[in-house]
Amino acid sequence: KKITIAIDGFSSTGKSTLAKQVAKELGYVYVDTGAMYRAVTYYAMLNNLVSEDFLDKESLVSQLSKIQLQFQFNPALGFAEMYLNGENVEQAIRTIEVSRNVSRIAEISQVRAKLVEQQQAMGKNKAIVMDGRDIGTVVFPDAELKLFMNASAETRAQRRFDELLEKGQSVTFDEVLQNVQQRDYIDTHREDSPLVKADDAIEIDNSAMSKKEQFELVMQLVAE
Ligand code: C5P
Repeated sequence: KKITIAIDGFSSTGKSTLAKQVAKELGYVYVDTGAMYRAVTYYAMLNNLVSEDFLDKESLVSQLSKIQLQFQFNPALGFAEMYLNGENVEQAIRTIEVSRNVSRIAEISQVRAKLVEQQQAMGKNKAIVMDGRDIGTVVFPDAELKLFMNASAETRAQRRFDELLEKGQSVTFDEVLQNVQQRDYIDTHREDSPLVKADDAIEIDNSAMSKKEQFELVMQLVAE
């Protein structure tokens, strides 16, 4: 039986790593909704509509119909890469600069409405693993399996810091920790679809869990 798996949680809790692994094992589609919010943010940055102390919400909303988002599976990587208006932006959307602006873009209701609609369309045939902040609460409230991931802010910042260093970005641990905490704050306090655990979601605190342990736990839950 094909099901829908919704994975939500705080920033850098390893949602995407887990989701990718589970999707691969089950032969399901994996959708990283954070990439969609990041791509809209990247568009806004390219068009000078957002910076750290500036946001032209009105212009961005009026240009939403010009923003075409697409996932394209890359067999070499084993997952789908994000395309913005036909251009591969998979690398460009993962910078700390995008991370600094994305939560303010994700607060805009019209942005959320557009992306949620696309996400629901992608999941209409089930057999999907989707990760984000509002998947179990808003996008797929009827998902058969909902997970809510958490870990201490320090653990999460360390993971994200290692990732950014690996990609050759020059950041300090404190900058990353601050960004993780800032995004958590905005994500949990926004008016539209705040980050909150769905009542029927299973909470996983993975501060002290290996990737293998998390994967095995989820596969066990899928089998139940
Ligand atoms: O998952 P990731 O950390 O890449 O997401 C980037 C940001 O996008 C989050 O901090 C959040 O502000 C926003 N987001 C969201 N709803 C989602 C996915 C991401 O608001 N479903």
